[in-house]
Amino acid sequence: MNPFYNPVFLGKILKRYFVDVDRLDRISEDALHRYQDQQLRRVVRFAGTVPLYRETFKMAGIQPSDIKGIGDLHKLPFVTKEDLKRHYPGGIVSSQVNKESLIEVSTSGTTGKVLPLYVDLLDIVMGLFAYMRTIHEYDMSIWKNRITIIGDFAPHTAESGYVTRGLQPRFNLTKMFKNIQWLNTNDDPKKVIVAINEFQPEFIGGYVGMLGHLALLKETGLGENISPQYVAATGSVLDSYLKSYMEKTFQTKVFEVYGATESGLIGYQCKQGSYHLMSDLVYPEFLRNGHPVESGDAGEMIITKFHGRGTPILRYNAINDIVAPLQGTCSCGKAGSLIKKIYGRNDLALYRSDGTVLLPSAFSEIYSKLLYELRTNKVRNTKIIQHDISSLEIQVVIDETLRTTGPSVEEIFEFLRKGFQDKMGSDVTVTIKETASVDTSQGPRIVSLIDKKNYVISRYV
Ligand SMILES: [Zn+2]
Repeated sequence: MNPFYNPVFLGKILKRYFVDVDRLDRISEDALHRYQDQQLRRVVRFAGTVPLYRETFKMAGIQPSDIKGIGDLHKLPFVTKEDLKRHYPGGIVSSQVNKESLIEVSTSGTTGKVLPLYVDLLDIVMGLFAYMRTIHEYDMSIWKNRITIIGDFAPHTAESGYVTRGLQPRFNLTKMFKNIQWLNTNDDPKKVIVAINEFQPEFIGGYVGMLGHLALLKETGLGENISPQYVAATGSVLDSYLKSYMEKTFQTKVFEVYGATESGLIGYQCKQGSYHLMSDLVYPEFLRNGHPVESGDAGEMIITKFHGRGTPILRYNAINDIVAPLQGTCSCGKAGSLIKKIYGRNDLALYRSDGTVLLPSAFSEIYSKLLYELRTNKVRNTKIIQHDISSLEIQVVIDETLRTTGPSVEEIFEFLRKGFQDKMGSDVTVTIKETASVDTSQGPRIVSLIDKKNYVISRYV
């Protein structure tokens, strides 16, 4: 039976809608802690029915009943990407759940390491509610305001798992959510901007790269009717220059939403600009050398997800983001924890001879400057290879249709070379090469071949 016709399931959804969407605005800090303890106990008990976790719990010598709350979380072993891959498919789902009722999604292939896992329908609904929470924060309603969502609807992604394979066959989405326009971030930005221009949304949610392209196109005169009140940017680090360029071009306010395939949404910026964690849906820890970092210090994020009956995510250590937590509260009064800064992925880092590790937040601005300073989107693709501590190679694919318009290829190359030279220091040789395509099948777009085991990190930038 279609679960959306099942009254028990519908009842669960309605209850969740009223209880979950704005929980952080109503709940006290104490009540949130009790809720987190209870959710953790539930998810650990459930994980005990999943072969992967049964095995790792046994190896660590713990029983699900040993975990009474967040205070016991550190007793659980970390779960790695390899653990999940090794037990896929049968070993990452509960013996109590019919695997046919689950939906398979996988992490993005751009890093070269694809990880398949399962979500259930309640997970999908929670994902939707979490996104609605960010929309509510800006006084928008999915029933009243026109909302454009530019998702990653490539066949394998979480978004197509959620929307195309999860919700669409059960609801008629376009009929149900008349005010939501669904667009695909893998489409040509020119096609996307035409569609948005017709729809005239009050709110646009999309990936940083696509939003940057749209801003550039808007500046050239396309999309003249697009003037959203808010734009939500997600997917990668948004540097402040690109953010203000987008705000100026669209005459709007841009805020950030942070999430990952494995965990769902993790955080979002409130109206005051503070970065709040979705502390009722996920519990991130921030560790350096295995110990929690101080407020304001950068640490590796370990994530635990509270909801769903697909693949449990408990102390998962492979989102690979470096994030600084922040102690304190925000004047908006939301319960839960704050973060100070998201630095980006530490498996996409470059290493300087002085111990400084450059994370994506440090060099993404070199590329975004191509947009807002040189006004060009001629660079179609790029790959950055650090061969050793003193040599860096940048491969660039130029868009043939744009080759002769705007700044010359030489000018762009010099701009990139200088950008990386400034970041890496004068003792590094930076080479720029034009290539017909970049090979991302063997690994991510940013590869550092230096020996990380013997590298001593002094700071993250
Ligand atoms: Zn706030």
